[in-house]
Amino acid sequence: MVAVARLPGIDEALALVLERARPLEAEAVPISEAAGRFLAEDAHAACDLPPFPSSAMDGYAVRAADTPGRLVVVGHSAAGRPEARVLGAGEAIAISTGAVVPAGADAVVPVERTNLVGAALDVEAVGEGDNSRARGGDVRAGDAVVLAGTRLGAPQIGALAAVGAAVVRCRRRPRVAVLATGTELRAPGEELGPGEIYESNTLLLHAQLTSAGADVVVLGAVADDEHATRVALESGLAADVLITSGGVSVGTHDLVRAALAELGAEEVFWRVAVRPGKPIAFALRDATLVFGLPGNPVSALVGFELFVRPAVLALQGARDPGPVYRPGRLASPLRRNDERDELVRASSRGEPGGMTLEPLLGQESHMIVRAAAADALVLVPRGPGELPAGAAVKYLPI
Ligand code: AMP
Ligand code: MG
Repeated sequence: MVAVARLPGIDEALALVLERARPLEAEAVPISEAAGRFLAEDAHAACDLPPFPSSAMDGYAVRAADTPGRLVVVGHSAAGRPEARVLGAGEAIAISTGAVVPAGADAVVPVERTNLVGAALDVEAVGEGDNSRARGGDVRAGDAVVLAGTRLGAPQIGALAAVGAAVVRCRRRPRVAVLATGTELRAPGEELGPGEIYESNTLLLHAQLTSAGADVVVLGAVADDEHATRVALESGLAADVLITSGGVSVGTHDLVRAALAELGAEEVFWRVAVRPGKPIAFALRDATLVFGLPGNPVSALVGFELFVRPAVLALQGARDPGPVYRPGRLASPLRRNDERDELVRASSRGEPGGMTLEPLLGQESHMIVRAAAADALVLVPRGPGELPAGAAVKYLPI
């Protein structure tokens, strides 16, 4: 009987990758350049926010106990120009939104609920604290504003700036080298000769890497030649991550794994029970993570989402490097694969009951143009038979 090597499944392979993707060093990043970066340590507020009791409305600062009633206007507090005087009984101070509520006042009457007749101001009733924002009502000095491992999006950048953070500590961006292999490959814009095709994977991977926060170096395409392949791989191994496409199958022109081994990279796994993208290789040389993605563009795209994106996020210290699947329902039935979990390209649509996923026609791994209509990868777990229309599934947005 022939022993058939059991291939790792997606989760098992992902665990092998993430065990080796340790967060890179932290560095200081100006807040103006920190969007998309991952915070290396918790960021704390340097001041209360608001830093003073501030008005939520344009109107008059008053003592709530004096309302309703007729008051006399004795001053003006504008945003950035506080009124120095203390508000006394029977008095009002004109105030603008964001201005300091003067000492002695405990509420603001909106201008719409007042009537100024000469120097006399008639005000409607307000309660204590109305239309006034308490000092430290958003955050207190010293409290955490954003936690380590958070990717800084617009709300986080806004919060950090609001508490005066000019510089934040972020993980260094991983340097990722991308190398295509294949004698048949020509860059878009060049003339195709006999047997040649356009090289799409480095561009596809560049787009994915940029969205994952990597600092990308595209090494171009190398012919299926042992020496040239080794030279190109060696230069890529200087990066934090090296991604190759093509040349990891069992053909005589598939040279990547052997060349990596010669260069001292230790293979952690080769082939995963997944479709498309089964021949994916993962290796390590010193601290460099090496992903050998298969050449078919859809295999490269799927392999990236399953293994490379989580690794790139983990290197940046992401709290949850993913991949983060979402729940949805199939719009039409799908045959299952007996031996391999499958990632099926689909288009999603929001419906009252949640997301519905319509698998696209043309699921072969070279059909990148068919895949261009997809915004989801539906996970179809291996097994017999088919998943019926309406079946609950998990999917990755792409
Ligand atoms: P390989 O994994 O090298 O056997 O390649 C599998 C298929 O993908 C072949 O049809 C290749 O021509 C194609 N291919 C390999 N690399 C690329 C690339 N960078 N861009 C587009 N197609 C590619
Ligand atoms: Mg090839």
